[in-house]
Amino acid sequence: MICEICGKTVEDDAHFCPNCGASLRRGDRFDEAYGKTPMQETAAPAAPAASAANGETISFGNWFATLILPFIPVFGMIAFLVMTVIWSFSGRISQTKKNWARAQLLVSVIVFVMLVSMLSSMMKDPAFQSMMQEYMQLMQ
Ligand SMILES: [Zn+2]
Repeated sequence: MICEICGKTVEDDAHFCPNCGASLRRGDRFDEAYGKTPMQETAAPAAPAASAANGETISFGNWFATLILPFIPVFGMIAFLVMTVIWSFSGRISQTKKNWARAQLLVSVIVFVMLVSMLSSMMKDPAFQSMMQEYMQLMQ
């Protein structure tokens, strides 16, 4: 038979092409099994190493400590905000954390704007104003 990769004639029962080293067994044929050529397959192992260097796996404990922070009054909230800003713009942080921090920062801004607009519309509410006046009188 003829090797489909390099075109050289090889023995019919050969498992590998002696010329280019491509697998000739039906089940092992990359192009049949995965729709890829062996050339692409040999290049593939480089990708996990590159992505591992780019963003290491962040442990459960690390995420837990990160996500519990904004629920700790005052100190935790400030630390959380400072951390997300640093993570968003630091060059040394992993891409995974950077992406998360940027999304978190955007969510924080949206929530803050919503709270301010809610609070300002509440202030204009006559019912709230009279309630505040009653409260002030109680305090005196
Ligand atoms: Zn070949």
